[in-house]
Amino acid sequence: MKETKEVYEQLHKFHDKEIVLGTKMENTCPLCHTNSFHVQYHLQDFDVLQCRSCGLKIRDHIPDKKQLSSFYNKKDYWDTPYFSNCFAQYDSSRLEIQAYQHVLDFLNSLSLSGAILDVGCATGVFLDLAQKGGWKTMGVEISEYAASYGRNHFKLDIHTGTLDNISLAPSSFDVVTSFEVVEHVDDPISFVQKSAILVKSGGYLVLMTPDHSSLIAFVAHVLYRLSFGKFTVPVYGIYDIEHIVYFTPKTLRKLVEPFGFKEVKILKESLDLERSKEVQSGIYLVGMKILIFFSKLIGKEFKFTSVYQKLSY
Ligand SMILES: [Zn+2]
Repeated sequence: MKETKEVYEQLHKFHDKEIVLGTKMENTCPLCHTNSFHVQYHLQDFDVLQCRSCGLKIRDHIPDKKQLSSFYNKKDYWDTPYFSNCFAQYDSSRLEIQAYQHVLDFLNSLSLSGAILDVGCATGVFLDLAQKGGWKTMGVEISEYAASYGRNHFKLDIHTGTLDNISLAPSSFDVVTSFEVVEHVDDPISFVQKSAILVKSGGYLVLMTPDHSSLIAFVAHVLYRLSFGKFTVPVYGIYDIEHIVYFTPKTLRKLVEPFGFKEVKILKESLDLERSKEVQSGIYLVGMKILIFFSKLIGKEFKFTSVYQKLSY
């Protein structure tokens, strides 16, 4: 399995495995708090478990928060092709930027305006777009490297840290967004609760994350099963080593709606192959392009953005 080894090496190229793998977690479902799981995928470095009760998928190891924080703060982490479009002169034609624009377009279609908070805003590209669209913006970002970049280059109000160490008044934002963050946190309930409380009554919570019920995830699953668990490369690519919880639109809805929200829209986003150049070669590239085409055709794209409205009582 020389090819498999090479792909693993490429996937790990920018990761410190010791930091990212962390310690084996208590097998309690962060969504429904039951503790009955089955191992869905047995991978080289960790297992992917699925909750028998609610269907949520989680990794069996969680990283140490302090180590992870220092990991995200390394300049090397951001100096990778994956984040090449996070800086000034970002390319608006790229899929990741279009995904941000889709959210702003949807909010505009509701004739919304006011204040947006982006949680885990990285360097602040989404907030830069929002600011240009007339929104009052604020960001929270765990990486001082990314936060200071956003403050200096996009002139944004970005607080370094998490919602745990910033004091914001409840109901102070019309919209709270978080792009590709909820899958990185080990306590998604607390993360959503702290985000939800900041949304005004009638306001919106917007969460983007990979869809583990996408066509690409399904094909990876089939290949894994057909090979009796030996062909793990596609699964490994989807069940990202940095992610702790793996959502679908259904499990994310189960997480958010109990906080008094109603799902009003799901925006689908294709996999951006330009962001995953390390797994692009020959047959993978052709295969991925075909899969992306069919994913769009049947509405089972790689990522989704759920928009939830806070109900008024
Ligand atoms: Zn569960």
